[in-house]
Amino acid sequence: MEKVQCVVVGAGPAGSACALSLARKGIETVLLERGQRVGEKNVASFVLFTPVLDRLIPGFRNDAPLERPVSDHCLAYLGEKDMMQLRWRIQEHTDRGLAYTAYRSKFDAWLAGKAEEAGAELLTGVLVTDLIIENSRVAGVRIGDEELHADVVVGADGIHTVVGRAAGLVEDDPRTYLLGVKEILDLPPEVLEERFQLSPGEGICYEMVGYAVEDIMGATTLYTNRDSISLAIFGWVDQLRERGIDLHDRLERVKEHPFIASCIAGAELREYQAKIISNGGRIDFSKLYSHGVLLCGEAGGFNDYAYIGVPPGMLSGMMAAETIEGAIRKGDYSADALSTYITDLEKTGLARLLYNSRTASNYIVDHAKANMPGYLEHLVKIMGNILEDEVSYMDPEPYPYVRDFYLGIAENSVPQPLRRPIRAAMKAYSPLGSAMRKRKIRKAMR
Ligand SMILES: Cc1cc2nc3c(=O)[nH]c(=O)nc-3n(C[C@H](O)[C@H](O)[C@H](O)COP(=O)(O)OP(=O)(O)OC[C@H]3O[C@@H](n4cnc5c(N)ncnc54)[C@H](O)[C@@H]3O)c2cc1C
Repeated sequence: MEKVQCVVVGAGPAGSACALSLARKGIETVLLERGQRVGEKNVASFVLFTPVLDRLIPGFRNDAPLERPVSDHCLAYLGEKDMMQLRWRIQEHTDRGLAYTAYRSKFDAWLAGKAEEAGAELLTGVLVTDLIIENSRVAGVRIGDEELHADVVVGADGIHTVVGRAAGLVEDDPRTYLLGVKEILDLPPEVLEERFQLSPGEGICYEMVGYAVEDIMGATTLYTNRDSISLAIFGWVDQLRERGIDLHDRLERVKEHPFIASCIAGAELREYQAKIISNGGRIDFSKLYSHGVLLCGEAGGFNDYAYIGVPPGMLSGMMAAETIEGAIRKGDYSADALSTYITDLEKTGLARLLYNSRTASNYIVDHAKANMPGYLEHLVKIMGNILEDEVSYMDPEPYPYVRDFYLGIAENSVPQPLRRPIRAAMKAYSPLGSAMRKRKIRKAMR
């Protein structure tokens, strides 16, 4: 019977970060990947926020396969034909290299290579099909008819985690699943730079809501690689199913929007990917470990509400390695011993960030999905009224945007018993606030 100290299932960013950290601690580690090549299952490009990688591999910028540093970020709203955007560039972030675009196929292979260099054994083309359970504890993995025993198994096998399910830690909640459809569209670097007003080598990242996905509470992202654009669209799986919506059709519609069309004009489709991402649901950290097993990365729900999962995934892998080191020292792999994973996670900002993003995602799942078109329409109406108020000079009464925002958008999240008094206070506050402001202005101007 073959036995090792630790088996990590899945050589995505979380699994490789975990295997690298374990190997550096001198822990015997086998990293299993179902793809024939690492990264084979992740073809598209992504935005990499770097502080976690800076901690894992200081100096990674010298040899990691990066595309462009992201110098400019944009939030945009797409109307049927219109567009409104907020664009910002923080020079210190650009100088420090806070974010890059990169291809997952190259990045995942590079990171797994780092784990191998540190001493982990990487086996590709290996599909883990089940766990070995002995005396109610996880004792290894099954690969078809073969078995590999281990003191600890780390499930880093992504959203459809075999490890998490077989250990009884993960249950499906399709209401929390988003489908992402992504296209890579080739364009020469100098065209990208001119089109997006970028210096040579720099990149831009857009997050957009509105047109073509407003009825399904989806979003669109666009960012620049070295010689291509990544255009992605996201929608909630349950909404797509219920209404028979094909997200790829929606992506085609987005591509015809005047603003997007001007961004991608002349581009050639290189590749296409559709993938599910979990968004919302799990905030229960006690479901991250059991006897002889830990979950990290997307298998453990480590991704935020804005589709960012690589840095939290890597950090959870690094923290899982800390926990395993402690368990090995004590020679105890029980759930009780591995429960220090939670305290290890709490040493980072992950617990706080995941709590915040899960709360926000869960709010969307429970309350906002059905109301989203109304919210967006209301928000745009408020923005339009503010603009009109600022430029018309005709009305002595200011536009009560706080009241309209509360009544049209925020009230839905207020507990029912408080709604009447707050509504009354909001209605009373507007004329009172306006009267006080007029008095102040009168005093100042006379
Ligand atoms: C469309 C889209 C866009 C995204 N954009 C971004 C972005 O810009 N930035 C960002 O940070 N995040 C982004 N994300 C989220 C990010 O992709 C995930 O959070 C991240 O991939 C999670 O990493 P992971 O290592 O946990 O899992 P994965 O990357 O899914 O890796 C799991 C690995 O395990 C292997 N595996 C699975 N099952 C088995 C098995 N049974 N046996 C052996 N091996 C197995 C898989 O082949 C894979 O290599 C995006 C997600 C989507 C869907």
